[in-house]
Formats: sequence, structure tokens, C-alpha cells
Amino acid sequence: MKAIHIRSHGGLDALRFDDVQTPKPGPGEALVRIRAAGANHFDHDIREGVSGIKHQMPHVLGIEGVGEVAELGPGVTDHKVGDRVIIYAVKFCGRCHVCLSGLEGTCMDRSLMGVQIWGCFGEYARCNANQLMPLPANVSYETAAASVICYGTAWHMAVWHGKVQAGQTVLVNAAGSGVGMSAIQIAKLHGAHVIASAGSEAKLAKARELGADEIINYRTHKISTECLRLTGGRGVDLVIEHVGGDVLIQSIEAAAFNGTVVTCGAHAGEIVPINVIELFRKHVRLQGSHYASRIEVGRVFELVSAGALKPVIHGVYPMKDYSKVAALVANRDFFGKMVLVP
Ligand SMILES: [Zn+2]
Repeated sequence: MKAIHIRSHGGLDALRFDDVQTPKPGPGEALVRIRAAGANHFDHDIREGVSGIKHQMPHVLGIEGVGEVAELGPGVTDHKVGDRVIIYAVKFCGRCHVCLSGLEGTCMDRSLMGVQIWGCFGEYARCNANQLMPLPANVSYETAAASVICYGTAWHMAVWHGKVQAGQTVLVNAAGSGVGMSAIQIAKLHGAHVIASAGSEAKLAKARELGADEIINYRTHKISTECLRLTGGRGVDLVIEHVGGDVLIQSIEAAAFNGTVVTCGAHAGEIVPINVIELFRKHVRLQGSHYASRIEVGRVFELVSAGALKPVIHGVYPMKDYSKVAALVANRDFFGKMVLVP
């Protein structure tokens, strides 16, 4: 099959689009014909080899994909060839105490598609059959591929960890990213007042269109100062943060008494000095978050199907042009999600 893969870590020139062995589904596994795949910043980290994860080469990239069941391995009876499916991005054990508590996204023995195992940037992807989730008939493959990771991740951050409530004020950083775009919509759906931060006026204008009540251009204004000003000095109840560096520090400064800062990323700086006194005096909770459970991804797709969540798709590109998409990801020169089609 044709697939976007790497044979060694490196820059954009490490990307290859040619033949690799088509995977064969083993017992309990499925082979999915990929119809659309979502591009994520994590794909970029895996290509560059900066994530600290060891890879066997060649390695097929792509965390996020949807398609139809092409082949089922022995013992799989609850799906059939031709079913339209979402691939739940985490291969999980289903037996550890984390899985049994319903949080299979953080399984003790997890592998993420396109990270520890081959991913979705190919004509086919192999996964465990229990990763297959039904794709609602009225949701297109492109819309679905723009929804699996970003809405799931933002839902887990805002709803599971953040317990977002009507009337609360929520700061969403990097409003132009997939997670940012999703978090604005999810927070508004729960009746929150949303402050969005981003680094360009064009991105902030789009954040407003998605429902953000207030906007902060972090290139011209300090996020924490603006949040305190906009809340009469009280601060924000919840921060959806995935930037890191100084933005994480400002997020803690922006948090209200009893506020929560949830983070799922740190591309702007992974090692951050934190004022611990501020953290405990304000009763601030700093919470890490990783992807979502299957129940949450299922709920997100109910809302996408009902039109209550609408992903912003920056563009749909042929898979062979992934290097152009990867360049846009590297430069953060996009709003929402970019989708690849084989
Ligand atoms: Zn597990």
C-alpha cells in the first residue's frame, strides 16, 4: 500500500510517500481502508524524533483516521466488512485498572496509532477491533477525521477534568489549533463565558465566529493581565492550555481562586518554572490530560452528528501532499484541522 512514512527521523525531507507492506489483521484485529485522516502536531514530533519514543523503521505516521472495515482477523464478530468506522486512536489492553475504570485512553499498556504502532496515513491501517467505533451515517469522512482527536481531547480536558459549568469563565489558549477550536465550542455548549487567546487577529476573528466572548492577542497583550482585567480581578475558572512555556505560567496567574488549569501540550516550552505559592494559596489545580475515553469520543460524535459541534476544516489535501500540510503545521499557519485523503 502507499503510505506516508519515515525510514529515519528528520525534517520534512524525511517524509516518504511510497509502498510499504499492507498490514494483515491478526486475531482480534481489523484492517481499515482509510478514507480520511487528520493531521496533528504530534505527527510532526514523531517525524522529528523529539518525543523520546523509539520507533522501528519504516514507520507509518498518522494518529487520526476514519474509513471502512476492509478485513477482519480471526475471532472478530461484532463488526462486518464495509462498516463505516472511526478508529479510536489508542490501542488499549481492556484489562488494567485504568481500562476497567473506563479511562482506556490512559491504559497502562497503551499504544497510540502512528506513535508506537503504524498509523493512519496510508491506504490501510490495522488496529484492534475494539478500537472501531461506528461513524454516524450523516457525518462525512472528512468531518469525522477532523473530529476524533481534537474534540475528544478537548472534551476530556473541559468536561472530565475541568467540570465546566454554565456561568464559568474559561480561557482557551491557542484558539486556532484543533484543540483550541474544539474547546471554544465545547465550553460554549456548556454555557460558559469564553476568553480565547491566539497570536493573530485573523485567528481571533475566527475564534469570535466560533463563539468566543472575549479575545486576547498574546503578541500584543499579556494573557494573565487581560484575563484579570476582563473578570474584574477575579480570574478565570478554567484554562484549556496546550502551549506551555510562558503561556502556562500566565495561565496559572490568570486562574481564579479554586480555578483549574488543564494542559495537554507544551510545544512552546516543556520545562516551566511554577510559582508553587500562588498555586496553593489560590487553591489552583494543575491537571495533565491525555486524549479521551471511548465514551467521550462517542458522545462527541453524537454532537457532531446533531450539528452541535462543527469542526473547522482548514483544508482537505491529497495524502501525497502531506509535506505541504506538515509545513503548515510547523509554522502554525492554519486554523482548525487539516485533513488528508488517500
Ligand atoms: Zn489497559
